[in-house]
Amino acid sequence: MAKGKLIVISAPSGTGKSTIIGELMKDDALKLEFSISATTRAPRGSERDGVEYYFLTLEDFKQRIDQDEFAEYHEVYEGRYYGTLKSEIKRITGNGRNVVLDLDVLGGIDVKRLYGKKALSIFIKPPSIDTLRQRLLSRGTDSLDDINNRVARAEYELSLAGEYDCCVVNDVLEDAVAQTREIITEFVNG
Ligand code: ADP
Ligand code: 5GP
Repeated sequence: MAKGKLIVISAPSGTGKSTIIGELMKDDALKLEFSISATTRAPRGSERDGVEYYFLTLEDFKQRIDQDEFAEYHEVYEGRYYGTLKSEIKRITGNGRNVVLDLDVLGGIDVKRLYGKKALSIFIKPPSIDTLRQRLLSRGTDSLDDINNRVARAEYELSLAGEYDCCVVNDVLEDAVAQTREIITEFVNG
């Protein structure tokens, strides 16, 4: 049985999940490695295949579904599929490292169900919906339409936070990082 564990981190878009994960990945003691998902969306900017994602055609993605290659997958946005390959989890845990999975809220629930005690699911919450909107606006990467969609979706996602093992509120960033690090340290050493 592989030694590495799974840490799922989910949050409504704009909460600060990527910022927090970025900070945690710097901590060598946690032995974290990021799980590269497969997706049918096109690469953005400088993204490269096999680095940020495995970029697949819809046909290839569907073939892999049929071959039972995914631990979980979801159509996160209309027409855009994202999924965790079982081979990716095996590759990382097989090396004795702990896998960090950045998944949408439904994918996170699936992984926890599938891997049970070997997985820890963490939900990062914004202090409020207003703050979430402000963060999306100040990030400056999304159109106003996109921001409205993300905020509307956040309300649904927050209603599922209770399905997660634990929740961290990202109000003051340093505090949220410290709290998340503490939770993960306890889990990986437990
Ligand atoms: P996500 O990955 O959840 O979509 P990001 O990590 O991109 O979110 O963060 C969204 C924006 O909010 C970024 O501009 C980031 O710098 C900022 N941010 C993250 N955490 C905080 C915080 N605690 N306080 C204020 N701004 C934050
Ligand atoms: P983006 O297109 O902005 O990189 O990611 C969009 C969303 O897809 C994010 O909420 C991210 O957490 C989610 N996501 C990325 N990979 C996976 C995956 O393998 N499975 C699931 N269910 N969601 C994913």
